[in-house]
This record gives sequence, structure tokens and C-alpha cells, in this order.
Amino acid sequence: MHELGIVFHIIKNIEQVGEKNQLKAVSAVTLEIGEVSTVVESYLRDCWKWATDKSALMRGAELKVETIPAITLCEDCGKTYGTVQYGRVCPECQSEHTHLVTGSEMNIKEIEAY
Ligand SMILES: [Zn+2]
Repeated sequence: MHELGIVFHIIKNIEQVGEKNQLKAVSAVTLEIGEVSTVVESYLRDCWKWATDKSALMRGAELKVETIPAITLCEDCGKTYGTVQYGRVCPECQSEHTHLVTGSEMNIKEIEAY
């Protein structure tokens, strides 16, 4: 259940932004979540409801989630490929010298507030 920690972290960030910009309420937040991040969206949504209810700024804010596709780069042939489909082994040259380029991150993309 690290989702609750993530949600608290997000809320803290947004509250700081809200203070700086003198926002009254946040109506929606868009998160980008990597395809191979360890975040479970359904847990995240449960935590979101529970935690935003405790924040005056965030109460009732909608959570929107966008998925960032996971892409892996092969260091031997320089090609990129879909991580979920092929895993750690390059489908072009069967090399295992690969690393994840995108797909494990989580960002706050957009905050809608007034
Ligand atoms: Zn390769």
C-alpha cells in the first residue's frame, strides 16, 4: 500500500502550489503514470478519495490518470521497443543490454483549480 504515501506526497505538492498561487479549490488533477510503475490505479483511486476529503483545498477533486507507455532502449543496436511486450531482451538483436527509458515514472501533469 505505498499508494497512500504517493497520494499524500501529491497532495502536499499541490497544497504548496495552491498556497503560492492563492488557489481556493482544486477541481481536478491529472497524473501521468508509467505503464511499468508499481502504482496500482484502483488503490490509488481509493486512497485519493480518502485523503483528498481531509484537505480543504483538495476536497472533491477529480483524479484523472494517463498512462505513459513503457519504452526500453537496446544499448547494442540502439533500437527502442515496447517494454511490456518484450521485457528485458531486445527483439531485434536478442541483446540483454537494455534499459528502461520511460514507463516507471509518475508525474503531476495538470492541476485544474480556481
Ligand atoms: Zn538490440
